[in-house]
Amino acid sequence: MDPVTASLEAVLQRHAAVPPRGVVADYIPELACADPDDFAVAMASVHGSVYRAGDHEREFTIQSVSKPFVYALALADLGLDEVAEHVGFEPSGEPFNAISLEPGTGRPANPLINAGAIVTTSLIPGDAAQSFERIRAGLSAFAGRELELNEAVYRSEAATGDRNRALGFLTLSQGVLARPAEEACDIYFRQCSLMVTVADLAVMAGTLARGGVNPLTRTAVVDPEVAKIALSVMATCGMYDRSGEWMVRVGLPAKSGVGGGIAAVLPGEFGLGVYSPPLDAQGNSVRAMAVLQEMSSRLGLHVFAPP
Ligand code: GLU
Repeated sequence: MDPVTASLEAVLQRHAAVPPRGVVADYIPELACADPDDFAVAMASVHGSVYRAGDHEREFTIQSVSKPFVYALALADLGLDEVAEHVGFEPSGEPFNAISLEPGTGRPANPLINAGAIVTTSLIPGDAAQSFERIRAGLSAFAGRELELNEAVYRSEAATGDRNRALGFLTLSQGVLARPAEEACDIYFRQCSLMVTVADLAVMAGTLARGGVNPLTRTAVVDPEVAKIALSVMATCGMYDRSGEWMVRVGLPAKSGVGGGIAAVLPGEFGLGVYSPPLDAQGNSVRAMAVLQEMSSRLGLHVFAPP
């Protein structure tokens, strides 16, 4: 076994020995039936090497990890100035699904809380089918393989997503949502229901690490400037209302999702994906955060670490 894979295996083993704290997301039955013991990590270097350990073949729904990547697609399609008329940049300090808009502008605080993500999704051009296909194809280009929809999760998200629909109507009433609320939410539910593995998350993160060029396919998915902006919002807003502490303790731009995945980026070096379903009260995977925190401190990955 190569030394990188061996060290990924070792970090998983250390954390697998501790019973998982946290609770598997249960707002829909498809997420509640995830195995709490599933545990996997992957690393994708900017040079195109991918290393995997644990249950790395397990597929799970991308959920909110999709948000910075869809934001990058919106920036690529519309440019920063136009996107910024609809969604802001500030950490909200509030839960991911807070009913909250910036005073004055009426924009959601940032693209990584649900209100901002739904607005961002609404900006992707085309009719509903074209817009979702742009998102699916764009996220697939980040991952370097075709991602598919989990129909059962999508149907459940749509059946239970009234709070997200409320955010859709709220942002519509403020003039910042770019399409009908039900339609924007439907595309957003599909976006959250795309299936990934940890290696997909690592390659998606590795694409941002490499300035928007997928390290496996060598395709330029977005411009370096867009990748830089996506990383900036991940650094400031990526871990829900734990984003500040995350930056202090781990120091890697990252995004979590309630499916149990986290994607993290060391710019210029590599992307990491970690998967473990039990979540803390903020909706972040407990074990995935612990793995990333250990890797950051052992390997000195904090982006602001002294040279
Ligand atoms: N589909 C979920 C929602 O919008 C995603 C939440 C998340 O991963 O944070 O409620």
